[in-house]
Amino acid sequence: MKESISNHKIYLGAGPAALPAMVLQEASKAIIEFQNSGLSILEIPHRGSLVQSILDESNILVRELCNLTDEYEVLWLPGGGRMQFCMIPMNFLGDDETAGYVDSGHWAHDAMKYGSHFGNALSICSSKNVDYCTLPIFPTSIPNHLAYLHLTTNNTIYGTQWHTLPTHNTTLIADMSSDIFGLPRKFSNFDIFYAVAQKNLGAAGVTLVVVKREMLEKTKRILPPMLCYAAHAKKQSVLNTPPVYAIYISLLMLRWIKHKSLSVLHEENLKKAALLYNEIDRNNLFYPLVTNESDRSLMNVCFRTKDDKTAIEFSDFCTHNNIAGIKGHRSVGGFRASLYNATTLENVKTLVAVMQEFERIYS
Ligand code: PMP
Repeated sequence: MKESISNHKIYLGAGPAALPAMVLQEASKAIIEFQNSGLSILEIPHRGSLVQSILDESNILVRELCNLTDEYEVLWLPGGGRMQFCMIPMNFLGDDETAGYVDSGHWAHDAMKYGSHFGNALSICSSKNVDYCTLPIFPTSIPNHLAYLHLTTNNTIYGTQWHTLPTHNTTLIADMSSDIFGLPRKFSNFDIFYAVAQKNLGAAGVTLVVVKREMLEKTKRILPPMLCYAAHAKKQSVLNTPPVYAIYISLLMLRWIKHKSLSVLHEENLKKAALLYNEIDRNNLFYPLVTNESDRSLMNVCFRTKDDKTAIEFSDFCTHNNIAGIKGHRSVGGFRASLYNATTLENVKTLVAVMQEFERIYS
């Protein structure tokens, strides 16, 4: 399998994000024929043994990488991150109950807003007043009556990340969409964690949800099965026709992550981020969005140019150098380089060289 695909751009988009070349190659082969079945993966029956084996292996790999026992249920659900923003309070927040939310960014805030449709969604701490350019300060104590505490481990749009997580004696739910498997975590500290696939875990269309089995008995409402975790768990992610192809790409990613190992990926991610942040801090034409070094994300590196004209010129310069997907989120502007697991150190070195060349020409 090739390490790279010729003519492929260096893609730094925040999601859908770059995938390793070998994953793309395996995934494309499966479209023509899946495992000598005489069928494309797009054609195989979703309740047959081939799909079952994809789910079984994926679930084993998730438990292995997260170091979890079968005390946890692994689910592959449709609907993306926003569907989880709905399902969590629907399932676990009673009408008269309060859930705590750590308001650390746009997605964290959205999760809180969705929560308020079903009960009281309380902001435990927030950095909204500084446009989320730092992590909020976690309070030393939190109300003890919370149904759960919801936290976003990496803030994709603003480029902040919890490297160490506050521990609290409450039900802890985390959105790990943009940093799952980018660094080791103590996954057993969470009662539920979830991640959309389209960043570190594959293609859009499926969300990994890992839920402690005891949570499944705590559903607060009678829900239609598609919105109920317990119903999905009972049917082992095949309640409806699952997005088999997207799950298969997640399986390829999980195999790739296991092969590289979480600790090696983490080391590489530290190196990649350090290289780019150093350049942003050094280069006269750029400045970082997140100045507090301990809050900086390893996954999404946000920066701006000193003026709008330079921004347009740098954008064109990147395009000319085959670098794509580096534009910042529309709500923040500037630039954002997403350095998920599939982005190589070589890719980041190229970006840094392009920034240096840009400084040489334009300053
Ligand atoms: N959570 C995080 C951390 C995200 O970055 C995103 C989107 N990129 C979402 C949730 C929303 O995911 P979706 O678009 O699948 O609803």
